[in-house]
Amino acid sequence: MSEKKANLSGELKKYFGFSTFKGQQEQIIENLLEGKDIFVLMPTGGGKSLCYQLPALISEGTAIVVSPLIALMKNQVDAVNGLSSEDGVAHVLNSSLNKTQTKQVFDDITSGKTKLLYVAPESLIKDDYLEFLKEVKISFVAIDEAHCISEWGHDFRPEYRNLKSIIDKIADVPVIALTATATPKVQDDIQKTLGMSNALVFKESFNRPNLYYEVRPKVNVDKEIVRFINGHKGKSGIVYCLSRRKVEEFAQLLQVNGINALPYHAGLDQKVRVANQDKFLMEEVDVIVATIAFGMGIDKPDVRFVIHYDFPKSLESYYQETGRAGRDGGEGYCLAFYDPKDIEKLEKFLAQKPVSEREIGLQLLNEVVGYAETSMSRRQYILYYFGENFDPEKGDGAKMCDNASNPPKLKDATDDLQKVLEL
Ligand code: ADP
Ligand code: MG
Repeated sequence: MSEKKANLSGELKKYFGFSTFKGQQEQIIENLLEGKDIFVLMPTGGGKSLCYQLPALISEGTAIVVSPLIALMKNQVDAVNGLSSEDGVAHVLNSSLNKTQTKQVFDDITSGKTKLLYVAPESLIKDDYLEFLKEVKISFVAIDEAHCISEWGHDFRPEYRNLKSIIDKIADVPVIALTATATPKVQDDIQKTLGMSNALVFKESFNRPNLYYEVRPKVNVDKEIVRFINGHKGKSGIVYCLSRRKVEEFAQLLQVNGINALPYHAGLDQKVRVANQDKFLMEEVDVIVATIAFGMGIDKPDVRFVIHYDFPKSLESYYQETGRAGRDGGEGYCLAFYDPKDIEKLEKFLAQKPVSEREIGLQLLNEVVGYAETSMSRRQYILYYFGENFDPEKGDGAKMCDNASNPPKLKDATDDLQKVLEL
């Protein structure tokens, strides 16, 4: 065992240049190599990719990596290929490849050169891919962004639901599922759908002690945000709005107020969208005003604030969106504006949806309202939602929220006390 451990550290150094594992990476990799099914719940930036990349590189055969977004897959493939002097260690398999390219991928797999094969779930069901993959040596299957399986997650993708039966057709190999979504409901859903009830579960804390959480009533919101941003001159930040129209309007309002801001939403021309995102990453622009289309896969370490002009639809999305602040461990101010009327609008919107979707949506909204209206530690509230206990007195980052640093007014406490006395 110790020799194997020493080996793993050696391989880590050799391929990635890192001298130590992060968090539970080493135990995860050891167990996967021993053939166990694994479930990893680790916040964004925790280092999940390495948990399957390293074992794939040192195993015989090819690991299949299921991932939802082509852009994310391409980034990873380039990164993995950059680790090795040879090309073809990692490939993406999808319908955008022409015949020659597909043949190259198949040849590299057959010859044993390809260690990681990235596929989107909708590609995996293609018959000619399936037939091919059945015949070659597969080391294991990794399912990244596994919360896409669950309707309770923030990014449900129906194609993910059939993964289990597809994998069973391809090979009887260990499965590692990974996600940065850790609500008990999503976790349960993933394990059931993938038939992984006996998997070893590795869960890391979702606490982000350097983030400060604040909720303000949505009054004079435009002015409040302008004032806030002026107080953070030259710092990078994101303002999330619900609608595309609001994004454009508010980006303009910020510009008029002398703030260096640009809009981002899925309705913008692709070129404009990419340009605006790049300007933000390159610090030519300070503030990006965006719908939730912005952020997935964005890794800017020094985002200093994330403002929610409109309240998020679930606590899960709120956690993911605010999680883009303070990646470098420095200041990360998370400010959300709350108006019960906005929640009513969202409820009306949900009323048009099919029953199951509506019920899930309403429950998620309930939880978000609870967060908005709570007088307890916001960090404790969020972590409780993730099934984690947090000590609001002594926990890491305990003072980092409006309710903790500026406890609900004495008046409220007196009111409560009076109620008790009246009984
Ligand atoms: P996740 O998928 O959990 O969001 P990533 O796999 O993208 O996280 O990793 C986040 C960052 O952490 C990457 O820049 C990666 O290179 C880095 N990283 C991962 N493992 C280690 C390690 N053992 N030592 C140092 N950096 C690491
Ligand atoms: Mg990841």
